[in-house]
Amino acid sequence: MSKQLVFGHQNPDTDTIAAAISLAYLRQQDGVDVEAVALGEPNAETKFALDYFDTKPLRVITAAKPEVDQVMLVDHNEPQQSVSDLNQVQVTNVVDHHRIHDFNTEKPLYYRAEPVGCSSTILTKMYHEKNVAIPKNIAGLMLSAIISDTLLLKSPTTTDDDKAAVEELVKIAGVDYNDYGIKMLKAGTNIAARSDKDLIDGDAKSFTMNGVNVRIDQINTVDLDDVFARQADIEAAMKDEMHTEGYDLFVVMVTNVLNSDTELLVIGSHTDVVEKAFGKKLENNRMALPGVVSRKKQVVPPLTDAFNA
Ligand code: MN
Ligand code: MN
Repeated sequence: MSKQLVFGHQNPDTDTIAAAISLAYLRQQDGVDVEAVALGEPNAETKFALDYFDTKPLRVITAAKPEVDQVMLVDHNEPQQSVSDLNQVQVTNVVDHHRIHDFNTEKPLYYRAEPVGCSSTILTKMYHEKNVAIPKNIAGLMLSAIISDTLLLKSPTTTDDDKAAVEELVKIAGVDYNDYGIKMLKAGTNIAARSDKDLIDGDAKSFTMNGVNVRIDQINTVDLDDVFARQADIEAAMKDEMHTEGYDLFVVMVTNVLNSDTELLVIGSHTDVVEKAFGKKLENNRMALPGVVSRKKQVVPPLTDAFNA
C-alpha cells in the first residue's frame, strides 16, 4: 500500500493538528502507511499543547500530489479550506464535524461526520470502536482540541459526546482539564505579540455565500480592548488583504474566551447583510454579540441565511 498524508484545514487550529495526529496513529494500527502533516505552522495555543504533551510540530506541506496519490482529511471538507491541489489526489478518509460543502469524490471513501463540538470527540469514539488504546500524548492533544473548539465546553456547539470524551481523555492525559484548559487558552491569546496580519489571518476561513466571497476570522482574547486598541491598524490590514485576495466582505470575530462574548469588526461590501443577519446596527464598524462564541453555529448560519434571503 502506498503512503498517504492526513491533514486538517489551512490556518491550522489545535483540533486540526490533534485530529491529524490521532487519525494517523489509528490508521497505522491497521497497517496503513500514513503521515500526519499540516497546511501551516501551529498557532500559539497549539504550540503550547504540543510542548505540554511533548509532541513535535507537524511537517508543513503546501501541495499533496508531489508526494502522494491519496490523502485523508480531518476537521474540514470544503476544498477552499484544504490543500491547494486537492483535486489532483484521491480522498480516502474524512473525519469532520462541519457542514459538507462543495465536496465531491470520484471513488468511494470512509466519511465520518458527526454534529459534535470537535473532530477529536469523533476520533475518541473511533478508538473505542477499533479497540485501540489512546497513547497519553495523543489523548492530551485530543483533550486540548476539545477544550479549544468548545472553549472549555461552554460553546453552544458542545454536546454530551464532547463532555464524555473530555472525561475519558483527562484520565489518560493526567491533567485537570479546567486548570490546564485556561492555561492553554490564555497561551493562545497573547495579542501584543501578534502582528495585525497574523491577527486577521490566524484563524480565518473563506466562505462563498450567494456568490459573495466572505472571509471570517476569529481572534481569541481575554480582554477585547487589547484588540480594539489597534482597530485602525487592523482595519487597514483587512482592507489590504481584501484587495489582494479578492474578498468582498471581511468579518473578524473578537471573542473573549473567559466570558464567552464576541464583538464583530466588519469591513467591505454587504455590511447591510451582516446587520440583517444579527438584527443590529454596526457602529464604527463594530457590533457586540453577547453570548456568541461559535463561528460555525452562531455566525455562519445566520449570515448564510441573510445572504440567501
Ligand atoms: Mn478547526
Ligand atoms: Mn474542529
